[in-house]
Amino acid sequence: MYFEVPGERKLAGRRLLEIKSLTQNTQGFHWVRTAGFFGTAFGWSAWTFRVALPIMKRFNHLGEANRVPLELKATINLPKTAFPMKANLPQNEPKMLARWEEARIYERIREARKGAPTYILHDGPPYTSGPIHMGTALNKCLKDFIVKSKTMAGFDAPYVPGWDCHGLPIEIKVDKELGGKKLQMRPLDVRAECRKYAQKYLYLQRQQFKRIGVFGRFDRPYATMNPQYESTVLSTFFSFYENGFVYKGLRAVYWCMHDETALAEAEVEYENHTSPTVFVKYRLLDDPAGIDAALAGKKVSTIIWTTTPWTLPASMAVAFHPDEDYVGLESGGEVYIVAAKLAKDVAEKCGLADSRELAHFPGRKMERLNFQHPFLDRKILGVLADYVTMDTGTGVVHTAPSHGAEDFITGVKYGLDATSNVDEKGILRNGLAEYTGKRVWDANQPIIELLKSRGALLHTEKTEHSYPHCWRCHNPVIFRATEQWFISMETPMPGGKSEEDTLRRRTLEEIKQVKWDPAWGEERLSNMIATRPDWCISRQRVWGVPIAVFLCESCGKPLNDSAVNKKVVELFARSGADAWFTSESDTILAAGTKCPHCGGTKFEKETDIFDVWLESGASYLALVADEPAYPWPSDLYLEGGDQYRGWFQSSLLCAMGTHGTPPYKGVVTPGWTLDEKGQAMSKSRGNDVDPVDISDRLGAEVVRLWVASVDFREDVVGSEKLMLRIAENYRKIRNTFRYILGNLGDFNPQANAVPFEQMAALDQYMLRQALAFASDVKNSYLEFAFHKIYHRLNHFCIVDLSAFYFDVLKDRLYISAPKSQARRSAQTAIWRIGEALVRLIAPIMSFISEEVWDHLPKSGGRAESVHLALFPSAEEILGDAGSVASEGSGSDKSAEDWVTLRSVRDEVLKALEEARNSKLIGTGLEAQVMLTASDPVYTVLSRHAAELRYLFIVSAVTLTPGSGNGTGGVHVEVKKADGAKCERCWNYSTRVGEDKEYPTVCERCSAVLKEIGA
Ligand SMILES: [Zn+2]
Ligand SMILES: [Zn+2]
Ligand SMILES: [Zn+2]
Repeated sequence: MYFEVPGERKLAGRRLLEIKSLTQNTQGFHWVRTAGFFGTAFGWSAWTFRVALPIMKRFNHLGEANRVPLELKATINLPKTAFPMKANLPQNEPKMLARWEEARIYERIREARKGAPTYILHDGPPYTSGPIHMGTALNKCLKDFIVKSKTMAGFDAPYVPGWDCHGLPIEIKVDKELGGKKLQMRPLDVRAECRKYAQKYLYLQRQQFKRIGVFGRFDRPYATMNPQYESTVLSTFFSFYENGFVYKGLRAVYWCMHDETALAEAEVEYENHTSPTVFVKYRLLDDPAGIDAALAGKKVSTIIWTTTPWTLPASMAVAFHPDEDYVGLESGGEVYIVAAKLAKDVAEKCGLADSRELAHFPGRKMERLNFQHPFLDRKILGVLADYVTMDTGTGVVHTAPSHGAEDFITGVKYGLDATSNVDEKGILRNGLAEYTGKRVWDANQPIIELLKSRGALLHTEKTEHSYPHCWRCHNPVIFRATEQWFISMETPMPGGKSEEDTLRRRTLEEIKQVKWDPAWGEERLSNMIATRPDWCISRQRVWGVPIAVFLCESCGKPLNDSAVNKKVVELFARSGADAWFTSESDTILAAGTKCPHCGGTKFEKETDIFDVWLESGASYLALVADEPAYPWPSDLYLEGGDQYRGWFQSSLLCAMGTHGTPPYKGVVTPGWTLDEKGQAMSKSRGNDVDPVDISDRLGAEVVRLWVASVDFREDVVGSEKLMLRIAENYRKIRNTFRYILGNLGDFNPQANAVPFEQMAALDQYMLRQALAFASDVKNSYLEFAFHKIYHRLNHFCIVDLSAFYFDVLKDRLYISAPKSQARRSAQTAIWRIGEALVRLIAPIMSFISEEVWDHLPKSGGRAESVHLALFPSAEEILGDAGSVASEGSGSDKSAEDWVTLRSVRDEVLKALEEARNSKLIGTGLEAQVMLTASDPVYTVLSRHAAELRYLFIVSAVTLTPGSGNGTGGVHVEVKKADGAKCERCWNYSTRVGEDKEYPTVCERCSAVLKEIGA
């Protein structure tokens, strides 16, 4: 506190003030003069006799009251807080992270929620081949919001992050780094290099996820390359195997000859590709009279159409649609059988001059007829297939079971040979000299020439069409029949009701039990499961979990012995999957083990590895093996839409094969992260927003708040501009907290809190608003509607608190006596609002909530971290149970009142703004407001008449019943306030000077000054 002392010189504003004398009478006058510029000249003013009141009592050494003047400013309760306005997030967030780490916050939360009902969000493992990007940040923040909000709702919600470490992308990158060296390396050494690579990015991503404020069991994550995890992958496979789901067989699979591996459906993308198209004549060997009498004695052929001439050496059949019409076209002394719908086109393209329709018959007539291969000594079988279409070609499909998925199925049905004469590099073998030894694409032209020379080529052209490509190397892929391991979708479930109760059927039933969010997920996955082929689970690569099965050297058949299988699983748990490549695994088979098929006694180890989807699909199984207390199934999986064909599906199948139920109760799918033009973000395009960079420049809290701001179920947009806007909103939220904390410096909840019934009506109203806010926010957390929380939060902080409540409250908080009921009521309200707000936003704004938590007054039994606390209850917000119980009865009326009061306030603020613009007034306190209102507005206003001037922040309000023909049933008139300005509160009052002791202040302030003993 500053006292004016006679003889002293001090600065008063921009002027120097000199105090000459202090009179000792109670009026407390003294002489002052000021120095400064008067016009253009610097100098002293004349001495003036000035009221120096108010005067603070001071006691001399004899205990007599002395009076010294004090600055009025010192009697005003200005906000005071150590909570800084500037967040300085890039510097302060790492400090907060270190503090959490030090306090072992994740473990503390586990202890605090021990015994509570569990909620398990099971993490989908990101791939360890690069730093995180905006999509991964979105994914991890959403999970963190869910886990933290469940924790604060009272659940025990552990979160074990996982990483997907095996697979082709890493092996390809390591291949590139190793170059030619790889050929000299043992698989074990290549695997060690891959492991190093995966480990590096696991560490990097882990540090980046922690940086954006994600809590979890980061010191012991799950990783698909951990021994325990690898053993679970193998035991998952064995439970399929021992229950009869697994078979090894030839199958036309997508094959990348560049990467020399089979590909899963999920690893194939469709891109445009130009192919040479051929129309080829296949001569009928059987008597055509069997088809139609009109064809008797004719020379008859059919015409097939294909865009892959290189598959013709593997041609085994020609397929017709059973129910479509076919015709026999006669031209140049020969008859050609083609689909009726395409006959005109074919005749034109193949130059069948003057063609004439001899016969008309359904495709089913062609079944089991024999044709001649155009250049090989091979009989070609007429077969029927529903997939033959009538939109392009000839309606007759050349069938090579070794080079097409549908062809393969047809081949199985008709017992056709599916042996592939194309090797893993895509080179044709065992054929004619014209094409043998050539790569498939290079073989096309020689085969076309061959067809020409045999007189079988009727037409050729180029066709651009959508064609499967490898998702990694982007080269076109082929279908190739190879020996692969499969999980059959058609095998009956163990203990199933009937033969029809297959893995596919049961899975389709179980999908209906899962809550899909968005709801389209159910249909999407059901369609995929209904039509998917058997699951090809083998890959011919090195970096993965080996299919650890012993094969008989003499008959080649696998040994499926559950005792042996168990030993291998134990070996993997002990030494990791690498053990399959060392002599450690050679000791598994007991001496004298015999092949049950041929009695052979020599075995070799299968070298294929598992499809990575089977690996990641076993992740919840691995987690439950590690944490046996976790429930089956988990509560939630959350990943992008591509996981319907990936992880959601493989996890579901792995769970069905081991538990007979899905691994999740619910599945949530966020959209894609796009740039402002709606394009996918990518580093190579240069349109990506790097979450780590944003964290380092603007703060991780901005990244988190951005995640909350978007409706994640749609595709979301991220950009630098958006981040800056989010940072601006962050500042507004921060200022809300700063106001709260600034006004609680002298507030002790235990001693000073005012019971709800005794609070000012406005404070009661705002606590009810806070309660409604809390209930909306808690409901939005239940729906994972974080964007609703974001918008509700902004509205509450900016519109309800800053622009309304805090604005109105300033007068009461600053001007009232510090310990007065009026001020304590306001402090109680803002303390309760602060306590509620900080907990409600903690799952999203994890950093600022902890910072605010530190600065809020400590009340009894309060957790030391906000992240250990629970969401606020209604009782905590309102302050007692009684008013919670009466909620909805008497409060409805007061809530309605406040709707009216706030809308009248808006009208008044508009009128004040106009008065300010027309220079009638400066600040609102220089104004008085005359309201004319009709009912029902008048009654409401008169009920709160005494409060109106504070609500409008003007010096006086007069209320008159009348027509109120302004907007909203009220007419507003603004005039200059009567009376003089109170030097303390700046309100105008006709009563300034009434109190002789404090002649420069208003009646309200003089009462306050008396109360505080000035
Ligand atoms: Zn490839
Ligand atoms: Zn054998
Ligand atoms: Zn005053």
